Amino acid sequence: MFNKVFVEKDLVNKSHTQDVLKKIRFNELITIDRYDNIFEKVKKPYLQKRDNLNLFLAKKRGEIVKEAPDAYGLGKEKHFYFIHAYNCIYECEYCYLQGYFNSPDIVWFLNHDEIIKKIDGTSKTHPNSWFHAGEFSDSLAVSHFTNEIPTYHEYFKGNSTAKLELRTKSSNTRALESLEPLSNLFVTFSLSPKEVAKSIDKKASPIKQRLKAIKRLHLLGFKIGIHLDPIVIENCWEKSYQELIEDLSNHIPISEISFISIGVVRFTKDVFLQFSKNYPSSNIRTSTFVKSFDNKFRYPKPIRSNALRLVRELLTHYGANPTNIYECME
Ligand code: SF4
Repeated sequence: MFNKVFVEKDLVNKSHTQDVLKKIRFNELITIDRYDNIFEKVKKPYLQKRDNLNLFLAKKRGEIVKEAPDAYGLGKEKHFYFIHAYNCIYECEYCYLQGYFNSPDIVWFLNHDEIIKKIDGTSKTHPNSWFHAGEFSDSLAVSHFTNEIPTYHEYFKGNSTAKLELRTKSSNTRALESLEPLSNLFVTFSLSPKEVAKSIDKKASPIKQRLKAIKRLHLLGFKIGIHLDPIVIENCWEKSYQELIEDLSNHIPISEISFISIGVVRFTKDVFLQFSKNYPSSNIRTSTFVKSFDNKFRYPKPIRSNALRLVRELLTHYGANPTNIYECME
């Protein structure tokens, strides 16, 4: 799976590090002082992630918990994300990581105790806040290798006023299935119509598998959230969303979904340039895109408003509580 694995020298003999190393395949193991002396120091084209991917096992230093941007989550509570990884094994065409880092190489931070200490400090200053994992990666895709889910579960079990969101495009729920559902743990799945996901969510789990994972976790008692984001306007998109929401309702009663975000595809300038270079024949048609209120490239406002209105109406038609639906980054 990986070409080179770089391990920080302070971590190399730790049992967690050795556990991870036993589970993954790689060509070469190199011990280093610090990941940030190497990661991103030389520009590496994003699409090299397909056949020449390196991994860093490292400690996260500096800013570990960051306040999320406005309109990131539901309600008036504060939202933070915490950083336990950089980059992702999937390759969604719209992923903002392609314009964010200088390299697609993956970093897994293994100092979870320190990350949790920061979460704890933030949660004491801002009670009832949300903590989102997976801002720079997928929360569950590699969790059977990295095995951090039980550690975070243990913390949030004892701190019920802080809420944890694990956001994913995978159906890899193994790490959760042996754990007890918690009232403050939300597992959230990003969904698109199946043909769209097949073409643009490269390497992520097919929608059919994600729906099965939703059903599995819901039956086990886990709280489920859904992200219908990014909405892509393509031929017959209205019909595709009607089919997707109907399909979802056959796996979980829509009224039992804790929250649903809706958002239309968008790019920062850097990501837009990278996306245009990496995926010139993408099904995400960008010919109508305009620079919008926050300098991101989006469909013009009337098209976005119409898409959001239609998806919202479909969701409420299938039983969603309107107060549990929010527009992400609009
Ligand atoms: S799952 Fe998320 S982080 Fe991973 S490639 Fe897709 S958009 Fe990017």
